[in-house]
Amino acid sequence: MSGLSEDQGWREETVCARAPGPVESATKPLVPALEPSVVYRIASLDQVDRLYEGGLGGFVYGRDGHPNGAQLAVKVAALEGGESAWAGSSGMAVEAAALLTLVRSGDRVALAEGVYGKTGRLVEHLGRFGVEVDRFDATDAGTLRAVVGERTRVVFAETLSNPLVRLADVGGLAEVAGGVGAALIVDQTFAPLLCRPLELGAALVTHSATKFLGGHSDLTLGVIAGDSEAIGSIAATGSTYGMAANPYECWLCLRGLATLAVRVERSCATALELAARLEGHRAVGRVHYPGLPSHPDHRRAERVLGGRFGAMVTIDVGGRESADRLIRGLAGAIPFAPSLGDTATTLSHPATTSHRNQSAEQWARQGITAGLVRISVGLEDVEDLWDELRGALDRL
Ligand SMILES: *Cc1c(COP(=O)(O)O)cnc(C)c1O
Repeated sequence: MSGLSEDQGWREETVCARAPGPVESATKPLVPALEPSVVYRIASLDQVDRLYEGGLGGFVYGRDGHPNGAQLAVKVAALEGGESAWAGSSGMAVEAAALLTLVRSGDRVALAEGVYGKTGRLVEHLGRFGVEVDRFDATDAGTLRAVVGERTRVVFAETLSNPLVRLADVGGLAEVAGGVGAALIVDQTFAPLLCRPLELGAALVTHSATKFLGGHSDLTLGVIAGDSEAIGSIAATGSTYGMAANPYECWLCLRGLATLAVRVERSCATALELAARLEGHRAVGRVHYPGLPSHPDHRRAERVLGGRFGAMVTIDVGGRESADRLIRGLAGAIPFAPSLGDTATTLSHPATTSHRNQSAEQWARQGITAGLVRISVGLEDVEDLWDELRGALDRL
C-alpha cells in the first residue's frame, strides 16, 4: 500500500481532519464500491468551468449526481431500452420530478383509474397549480381517446395494476397520447423485465425500485428511464426539489439488480402454478392473475408479456372476515406486510391498506372488495407455499 499521507509530519488534528489519500492497488474491485462522498476535489478554476459549462464529465456535488446513482441509472436504462435514466429518493420522487418537469399551469394530466394511491394524490395536488386531471381505463385506449385534448400534456398508467393485475394497453395508449402531443409515462413497478414500455411507445418508464428492483425490502428508491434530453431535465428538477437518491440505497439496489432476472423468472413461475391451484380451491371465489385464461387481459398478456405474467396473484375469499382469518392463519408463514417484490412471499389487504381512503363508488368502479387478499409471490419452494396457503384456506 502506498499513497497514504498520514506520515507527512502533520499534527494530530490535521491527521484526524483530512481524508486519506487513495489506496493504490494494481487490482480493481470486482463489485462496485460504495461512494458516499457528497463533494469532489476540483483541480483548478479552469476545470470547474469545464465541469459546469464545457461538457467535462465529472461529479461535483452529491445532490446533482454520484457514481452509485450513475451506475444504477446505466443498468436500468439498459434493462428498459432507454437512452438514459435517473435515480430519485423513492418511486414517488421520480414521478414528482417527471410531472413537475413536464406540466405547467393550464395543462391536463390523464391518469389511469386505480393507479397507486399516492400517485393519484400527487396528480391531484398539482390542482393547486392549475393542473387538471382526467381519468381513463388503462386497458381500453378508447376511454383515453375520449378524455384527451390539446391541453393534455401527460398520460400516466401502470403496466400491471394493483390489486386486480389488469394489463394496460401500453401500445394503444401511446398512440392516443402521441396523437395529441402528450407524453405517456408508464409505472413499471409490478412488471419488471416482463415488457419494455419504451419500445411500445411510452416516453418515460418509472419504477419504485423499493419493490422488485431492490428486491429485499431494505431500501427506498425510484428510477425513471427515457430519452436523454427528458431525463436530463427531470434530473435537474429532481436536484432542485431535493429528490436525489443517496449512494447507499443505489449501491444496495445494484446488488439487488444482480439477481433480478432470476428472481423474476422464479417468482413468475411460482405465481402461475399457485394461481392455477388457488383457482381450484373451494374457499377462493375468484383468482385475479393474467396468466389464467379466466383473466380479462389474458390474451393481451400472452401477446405482450413474453410468456410470464408477473409475481402478483390476488384472490377473493368472500369478505373482510374471511380475509382476516386467512391473514391470521398464515401469520407464522406468510406475513401480512403491505409492500411487494421481496424475496419472501407477503400478503396485502387492499381494502384496509392501499385502497383504504377510497369511496365505495371508487371501489365499485375498479372491482375492489373487502375479501381481496393480494399475494406477492417470492422465491420459496412452491410446495411449501401451497401447503401453507391450502392449509389456511382449508380452515376458513
Ligand atoms: C410503491 C409504489 C410506488 C411508490 O414508490 P415508493 O418507492 O414507495 O415511493 C409507485 N407505484 C407503484 C405501483 C408502487 O407499488
